[in-house]
Amino acid sequence: MKYKIIDFSKFSYIKIGPKIKVKIINEDNYDNEFLVGNATNTLISPNAKNIGILDERYDFIEYKNGILKIGGKTKNRKVYRFCRDNNFGGFEFLAHLPGTIGGSIKMNAGVKNEEISNNLLAVNQKEKKEFNFSYRSSNINEPVFEAKFEITRDYDKNLDIHLKNLRKNQPKLPSLGSVFKNPKEDYAGRIIEAVGMKEMVKGGIKVSEIHANFFVNIGNGSFEDMIYLINLAKKRVFEEFGIKLEEEIKIV
Ligand SMILES: Cc1cc2nc3c(=O)[nH]c(=O)nc-3n(C[C@H](O)[C@H](O)[C@H](O)COP(=O)(O)OP(=O)(O)OC[C@H]3O[C@@H](n4cnc5c(N)ncnc54)[C@H](O)[C@@H]3O)c2cc1C
Repeated sequence: MKYKIIDFSKFSYIKIGPKIKVKIINEDNYDNEFLVGNATNTLISPNAKNIGILDERYDFIEYKNGILKIGGKTKNRKVYRFCRDNNFGGFEFLAHLPGTIGGSIKMNAGVKNEEISNNLLAVNQKEKKEFNFSYRSSNINEPVFEAKFEITRDYDKNLDIHLKNLRKNQPKLPSLGSVFKNPKEDYAGRIIEAVGMKEMVKGGIKVSEIHANFFVNIGNGSFEDMIYLINLAKKRVFEEFGIKLEEEIKIV
């Protein structure tokens, strides 16, 4: 059985987490470990245990007869470049979405109407209809070793530029992207701002002045700082608006 040491204070996008032993997962040895892709949407606690990461063999892209087969460990950015260079449409939104294909499928990641599940045909050997995908969520409870996608249109340069422009209001400091899902017909960022938390700092974590649903690491931010701000936002938003904010990020 293979393991490797990962220092999540360097590996994770928000630069928080312990240095721990992580199991390298393949189709034969998965045993309910919590899988990390790039930890761009996952907050890792100091006591995290039983973490797995896919083996390097799942980093691949293959194309045949209109179908793309992509390994779960493949980075989104690599898929974006491959599709752009081969004039395959439907993956423009991956340009600025950090993470891996496996993590993105689990999260049903996307930008506006462009979601990873749109062109998905199958996960591992199972057809898409066996899974439920909704806003930033899926019921996938197994490792995504590989996925198949259908190419239905050409690469769209204007859409690519449009989606890139939408990113301009995102903070550049280390973060986990949007902390909370948007409640129905509203924006989590707007509500967090409305309860007076924009620019609030706890330890090394700040509610971003650019986008209040992004909590950024301004230096030595800790797991506890993040949890404090998450709980405070939930409490204040519920007290003032009766809305129950739901985390988009995963906490392990
Ligand atoms: C700056 C920034 C901007 C972002 N913008 C967006 C955005 O616009 N839209 C959006 O949707 N998201 C956004 N995100 C969130 C993040 O990019 C996506 O959720 C991404 O797809 C997560 O990929 P990951 O590999 O890092 O997953 P991780 O964070 O490692 O894991 C996320 C979840 O997926 C599971 N998982 C990971 N790998 C696998 C696998 N192979 N098989 C099964 N399950 C797996 C994990 O167990 C966990 O539950 C942003 C994040 C950041 C930091």
